[in-house]
Amino acid sequence: MNYDAIVIGAGMSGLAAGIRLAMFDKKVVVLEKHSIPGGLNSYYQRKNRQFDVGLHALTNFIKKGEKGKPFSKLLKQLRLSYDDFKLHPQTFSKIQFPETTLKFSNEFELLETEVREKFPQDFENFLRLVEKVKDFNELSLDIGYSSSREVLKKNLNDELLIEMILCPLLIYGSAWEEDMDFAQFVIMFKSLYFEGFSRPEGGVRTILSLLMKKFEDAGGEIRFRTPVQEILVENNEVVGIRTDKEELRAKIVLSSMGYPETVKATPALAEKISPRSGHMTFLESIFVFDKKLPEQSTITFYNNASTYSYRRAQNFFDPTSAVVCYPDNYEGIQEGEGTVRITYMANYPQWKELSREAYLGMKTKVGESALDLIKKLNPTFNGELLFQDIFSPTTIEKYTWHQNGTVYGSTDKTRDGKTPVKNLFIIGTDQGFLGIVGSILSGISMANLHGLMQSGDA
Ligand SMILES: Cc1cc2nc3c(=O)[nH]c(=O)nc-3n(C[C@H](O)[C@H](O)[C@H](O)COP(=O)(O)OP(=O)(O)OC[C@H]3O[C@@H](n4cnc5c(N)ncnc54)[C@H](O)[C@@H]3O)c2cc1C
Repeated sequence: MNYDAIVIGAGMSGLAAGIRLAMFDKKVVVLEKHSIPGGLNSYYQRKNRQFDVGLHALTNFIKKGEKGKPFSKLLKQLRLSYDDFKLHPQTFSKIQFPETTLKFSNEFELLETEVREKFPQDFENFLRLVEKVKDFNELSLDIGYSSSREVLKKNLNDELLIEMILCPLLIYGSAWEEDMDFAQFVIMFKSLYFEGFSRPEGGVRTILSLLMKKFEDAGGEIRFRTPVQEILVENNEVVGIRTDKEELRAKIVLSSMGYPETVKATPALAEKISPRSGHMTFLESIFVFDKKLPEQSTITFYNNASTYSYRRAQNFFDPTSAVVCYPDNYEGIQEGEGTVRITYMANYPQWKELSREAYLGMKTKVGESALDLIKKLNPTFNGELLFQDIFSPTTIEKYTWHQNGTVYGSTDKTRDGKTPVKNLFIIGTDQGFLGIVGSILSGISMANLHGLMQSGDA
């Protein structure tokens, strides 16, 4: 079977790339190992309740009609309508350290006011940093790594302010431990602090069903339960892929499996490069209570120390810090049950080593720790716990096939998507744009650059 393009993976980036190619009448097939779409941001059902695997927040919020922003680009390129997403904006979020708390919302003025009040001596410096962020072209495909901490130290004096600004940006998007690439910092700063959070009604299913319908309407083909076992190369040029049943030929292959995972599946690449697997993986706990919790923030970035330690947990999981998300605290959500999601940094090799019994015991410990944190943050709450679920780095690995259960991928990104093999491209997290909006934009831009520009279609 011959295709113009094969896309590996039906996560956000794979579906978006597939849509762009199919829209321009390319013969494209998306191959997905799992039985459902979504990848790292999929969905499941337990005891008649619908859950999102990962969704805390859709970043890059815009109001209807706003132009020139990442989310408006996404709508335009995929020909989707703003109203289809049924977005509920956040109330506000906060960064909570023992010394102080900084609130932010979808209006940047709130964060400015908070910094002026709590860090008056550094406020002018903060404003200069904001200008630097505004002027930086984070979308350039040829910028190399530079340390965000170094840039922040040159611009700000207060170490606590540096830690607090970095905390949400690292945990929502850094493949690097303790630091992040400055281009990635700028992407995250704009998407979290300038633009902000919202949640589509119906959660991640809403996004995925919009993408799936668009892809199928454009004439794309999708195959689930179809693991790609090898990416085929002849004379250093990609020619197709092999599954356990057949070989499919194509002019280009776009892979969202991850860079190290793609190299592993491509013997011709493995001879040339060995991108590293990232260490950052997480534990995600979900609790449902019989009523809403008193906390008003949508997301609390909690850290129980003066410095923010963003790295693989030393001991299975690190309860010193957590992301605490209250999905009912988006505007316009009806009163009802109260859901809380808690994310801890975790240690994949340790979880991988556990026997079944020890694994269940460790999950119980995580659940107890997370419930203690909920109580600490909501001391007056007396709701009854109706349901809880916890998934670990090995669950992430099991359902997404990312080595180390990594969520933000390799520390070796390939910003132009190119690999040493001609016409084999990396899309999604390891191209360098991550999160839901980032991965979708990665799929779009890599399909445009490598699938459409070459043939003059984009
Ligand atoms: C717990 C958690 C919470 C998160 N919360 C948020 C959030 O609130 N907001 C946000 O914006 N982002 C969030 N993210 C991050 C976001 O989900 C990811 O950045 C994004 O979904 C990555 O998309 P992708 O297309 O790059 O890769 P993936 O989603 O990893 O897609 C890759 C796909 O390739 C498939 N695949 C792998 N190997 C093969 C193979 N050999 N053959 C065929 N198919 C294969 C996988 O099954 C997968 O479907 C969260 C992630 C997690 C895990």
